[in-house]
Amino acid sequence: MITIDGSEGEGGGQMVRNSCALSLVTGEPFRISNIRAKRSKSGLMRQHVTAVEAACVISGSECAGLAVGASELEFRPGRVIPGEYQFAVGTAGSTGLVLQTVLMPLILADGPSRLVLEGGTHNMLAPPFDFIERTFLPVINHMGPSVSARIVRHGFYPRGGGRIEVDITPAPLLPVDCVDRGDPVGVNARTIFTGLPFEIAERMLTRAKRDLADWPDDAFAVRELPPEQGPGVILMLEARYANVSEVVSGFGQLGVPAERLAKTTAARMKGYVESEAFAGPYLADQLVLPFVLAGAGRFSTVKPTQHTLTAIDIARRFTGRRIELVQQSRGEHVLTVG
Ligand code: AMP
Repeated sequence: MITIDGSEGEGGGQMVRNSCALSLVTGEPFRISNIRAKRSKSGLMRQHVTAVEAACVISGSECAGLAVGASELEFRPGRVIPGEYQFAVGTAGSTGLVLQTVLMPLILADGPSRLVLEGGTHNMLAPPFDFIERTFLPVINHMGPSVSARIVRHGFYPRGGGRIEVDITPAPLLPVDCVDRGDPVGVNARTIFTGLPFEIAERMLTRAKRDLADWPDDAFAVRELPPEQGPGVILMLEARYANVSEVVSGFGQLGVPAERLAKTTAARMKGYVESEAFAGPYLADQLVLPFVLAGAGRFSTVKPTQHTLTAIDIARRFTGRRIELVQQSRGEHVLTVG
């Protein structure tokens, strides 16, 4: 039984999700206490409960203590059964975070799976659908499996109601070398909005255009969604390279001016572009699991976040693998497994 103190390291929901995924793959049971102790509202939220439930449903695992608000749980993994599954996060909880929990176990299962996930598709503090589709899944597919995702309906916080579908054709995860992002291929900036004045989306894009002055005019676009998918607004900036794409998102928030949001999002994109690293800060923590499960491989990243360091720590405890993170002369870091 692996015991985890959920207040260590990054201290968030990712520790629970990654532990479930690693437990299912390695067969190691675990107990976690002080769940999300470093969050303002500690304990499991609805979306974490759905994620753990999803892990149980695909495998017949047993989980003691699972409830909204719980700060401790014990997970005994069963055998992963591939197939068709549908999970709904009751609130606008993130569909992407539920996917994070079950994807690796299903990729390593002995047959194909199809997932229908309902809830939020573009939530703060979670990977938006476009990031999953354009940034994360291409790396996973490069490692051997074939995973495709479609968005059927957008779901923004707080209303939710989005739907994504994911098809998974399993394959062993192969070690890959991802230190070179390759030559630039293109850029685009999109504002997606619904249920809000067009002017908000336009101001966001205008400010992004000003800050990304070297991006071509035709790279900027606004898209309005049907009103029942809102209200919500998000700015997504994408830089495509031969070997990787980075999607940087700015989530519209009540009380945060459109210009300020666009300015911060553009600054984060510029930071990535200047870094020369393969993985941005979010991709890096999400790649720890697949790279560790491949048993070897490496990728370069911008300065590692607490999420990345914690993901490494949890992965080491379940697999015992050697994972090294070494800073390079130009400032980026290289994570090497094996
Ligand atoms: P936690 O805060 O522990 O619930 O984990 C949040 C997860 O969402 C991490 O895996 C982050 O990499 C991911 N995440 C948060 N914000 C973004 C974003 N803007 N784009 C992509 N992934 C994100």
